[in-house]
Amino acid sequence: MFNLILFGPPGSGKGTQSEKLIASYGLIHLSTGDLLRNEIARQTPLGLEAKNFMDKGRLVPDEVVIGMISSALDNNPNAKGFLFDGFPRTAAQAEALDKLLTLKQTSITVMLALEVGEEELVQRLLKRGKTSGRSDDTNEAIIRERIVEYHNKTAAVADYYLKFNKVVMVKGEGSVDEIFAGLCKEIDPRV
Ligand code: ADP
Repeated sequence: MFNLILFGPPGSGKGTQSEKLIASYGLIHLSTGDLLRNEIARQTPLGLEAKNFMDKGRLVPDEVVIGMISSALDNNPNAKGFLFDGFPRTAAQAEALDKLLTLKQTSITVMLALEVGEEELVQRLLKRGKTSGRSDDTNEAIIRERIVEYHNKTAAVADYYLKFNKVVMVKGEGSVDEIFAGLCKEIDPRV
């Protein structure tokens, strides 16, 4: 299996690039942000709990997202690989993911980390907020809180995979196609 983590701060383009990557490489896209927004739209108990955190720009508790990913893995027994987008976001999530993949006799192949400057992130998210219908993108204070959460909790996930020599940095600024080409250059020799 080819299991990819697309990593980077909020607004770094993970969602955009994921769409192109799953089309090219036939991977199953697992976006915890999308899975959570789907739970909110269906007004499930999980969605109602998650909404309280997401509206404040905070991370949803680990056990909630780990449970969601575990079910998603079980629901796709014949996948040739997964693209993890927005997960893992804490060291505890990374450890849990390793255990889940080991149970399936597979592992993370590589983490590709998109690098984008902080002001560019805020500008992109505010722009997305005008059309995305996402309330967490319209308020600059919430956007900045998400970036703080990223630095406090999520940046450590890259350190976790660095220990296993699985992290590659990719330039996240430029055109969508240029960034996609940068990602493909790292994936092609590994698939
Ligand atoms: P972005 O990358 O722009 O922040 P996402 O759609 O990935 O957007 O996430 C939106 C929100 O969903 C996050 O701010 C957080 O509250 C919640 N969320 C998504 N993935 C996770 C996760 N793995 N762990 C905890 N919270 C998460």
